[in-house]
Amino acid sequence: MSFDPEIRPPFDELVGQELVARYLSRATAPAVGDGTPAAGDGAPVPTPAAPAPAPAAGDSAPAAGDSAPAAGAPGTPPPDDQLAQAFLFTGPVGAGKTEAALLLAQSQLCPNGGADNCDECGRVRRRTHPDLHVLEPEGAQSYLLEQIAQLARDAFLKPMRARRKVYIIKEADRLSASTANAFLKLLEEPPPSVRFILIARTRAGVLDTIASRCQLVSFVALSEVAAINILAAETGANDDQARIALSVGGGSVSQARSYINTESRRAFRREVIGILSSLERKDAHDLLEAAKKLVTVARAPLDSARLRHAEELEAGKEQLSKGALSSLEQRQKRELSALERRNVIEVLNVLRSWYRDALLIGLGRAEDCVNRDVIEAISLFRGRTSEAACLRLLGQVDQSEKRLQYNVSVQSVFESLLFEAARAVN
Ligand SMILES: [Zn+2]
Repeated sequence: MSFDPEIRPPFDELVGQELVARYLSRATAPAVGDGTPAAGDGAPVPTPAAPAPAPAAGDSAPAAGDSAPAAGAPGTPPPDDQLAQAFLFTGPVGAGKTEAALLLAQSQLCPNGGADNCDECGRVRRRTHPDLHVLEPEGAQSYLLEQIAQLARDAFLKPMRARRKVYIIKEADRLSASTANAFLKLLEEPPPSVRFILIARTRAGVLDTIASRCQLVSFVALSEVAAINILAAETGANDDQARIALSVGGGSVSQARSYINTESRRAFRREVIGILSSLERKDAHDLLEAAKKLVTVARAPLDSARLRHAEELEAGKEQLSKGALSSLEQRQKRELSALERRNVIEVLNVLRSWYRDALLIGLGRAEDCVNRDVIEAISLFRGRTSEAACLRLLGQVDQSEKRLQYNVSVQSVFESLLFEAARAVN
């Protein structure tokens, strides 16, 4: 990206968010030996920051503030312990909030501040570092109380490999009032070695009691061109492939990246497209079978998560009690169902993007289509249907996404989508 000397590794990887990169870079900079306070206090914050969170109130926490902690002695807190203990990253989908959170985690869990791409850095990137926890709502609409209760218990256990533990809490706007209370207690008196990074679209969506205890960092929307460039640089995808990946991932760069890197996830797009391309030849029985197949396909990409879970369990066997192990297993089960939900949403995104392209072709704007690799199939589809039908199908996809939040069966959602699509072309 830029060659701004103020942006150190690993934050130099954060593309399109120079202000955020510069801020995080300075906030996590190690204190210089001569007692110069660690940067961060005076660092430019991308938005008017919320009042800095109260210094850690834990017994052994150093008084964060003006005096730089003495460096060197064993057991001395790391020099950048002046870093806020809780951050709230806000910004639109695709702005790179999750990447930034992982980079911040890397800087906290690597012995060299995340600058060296060592084994520990690699573990953070693969999300297999035992001191990194990435949470997503496991309830259909919000975080479960059990999730937060478990987080609260876990936060007080010692780190396993690093000096700290990092919790990334995605969709922090889905901490409902009841779960938020449990979490708030933790935010008020966090264990000194713990860092929380909350992620949400907007600050307003997060309960004020929580947001006001976090250092606010806001991200600007990334242009599609910037997002495509990031994906091209990181994965070697060409523009068309990157655009498809972004549409499957709902605009999120991290989703798009993992789509490009995961064959099983690319396979389900091919499956959906295969069905859409041959609707006119399918009878009711075929459509039911196709819906069933889609459910299977949406479950298939969970293998890498299962692998990671096995690794976690293996690491946990030496360190965790029986009770802690079984709650780890519970959490893994819930994570798998959250992942499945995400894959189902990606199937919907493929449908959505197909119908949009069909509309564009009808308007004579084929060059603006996303799915250029299958443009002929979409043209044929469009030729057999009408603009009104395409609009209706698009609306049905949005409706389906809402229905899925209410735990309706995925199979029945896919069935009605496919039957409607088949009606439109016959
Ligand atoms: Zn490292």
